[in-house]
This record gives sequence, C-alpha cells and structure tokens, in this order.
Amino acid sequence: MNLYRSCPFCHHETHRIHFADNRVDLAMSEGEQIEYSCPKCGKSHRFSVDELYRKPSKWIFYISLFIFIAGVPIALKLMSYEHIGGQNTTYVLSGLTIAPVLVYLILKDGDKKRVARFNEHYFKMK
Ligand SMILES: [Zn+2]
Repeated sequence: MNLYRSCPFCHHETHRIHFADNRVDLAMSEGEQIEYSCPKCGKSHRFSVDELYRKPSKWIFYISLFIFIAGVPIALKLMSYEHIGGQNTTYVLSGLTIAPVLVYLILKDGDKKRVARFNEHYFKMK
C-alpha cells in the first residue's frame, strides 16, 4: 500500500510503497521521523509518522475489471459445451457479472478498513 505525504514547501503530494499496517509498526521499522526529499522541488524534510497517510487503492477497480474481461472467454467456452445450455446459460452469465462485483466489493471493504486503521490511529496522542 502506498504511503502519501505532502511537501511542506511546494505542497506536491508524493507516495511510496510501504506495507506497515499502522503508524506504530511504521515507526518501529523506519523510526519516528522519516526523511524524504521532494522530487518536484528537491528539498528534503523530516516527516513524523503521524504526518503520513494512506488513500484507498485505485487498483481494486482494475483487478475487478480484469476478472470480468478474463471471465468472458471462459464463460463463452463453458457455454459451448453441451451440458451447459438453456437455463444454465443464465447461471453462467449471472455468475460472470456477479463475481467481479463481489470481488470488487470485498476488496474495497478490506482496503477501506486498512486505510481507516492506518489513518485513524496516531503514533503520538494529539
Ligand atoms: Zn516540494
């Protein structure tokens, strides 16, 4: 998951990948202050772990879309067999549309919880 921060000099938002579940884990692995240099203005700044935040992932939609796109040829191939026809065709087609939506909703919910867990709990009490 990406960790975002905003440059205090030019307000350019940058991110980097880090898999810490919360700010305490992040502080334990990287330290309480993390130094970043801004790719836009080049100035470097030490961020407290409480200044870093997460955002919902954009990949979840694309993963679901990929499942849908990959599922179409599989469903068409399955329907070409003789034992899948008539009413079973309805089940295959509804499964094809419901599965990516379910995957999207499940991944979106998990991502929302991960983002909230990171952003709502600070390392130091405010
Ligand atoms: Zn900057």
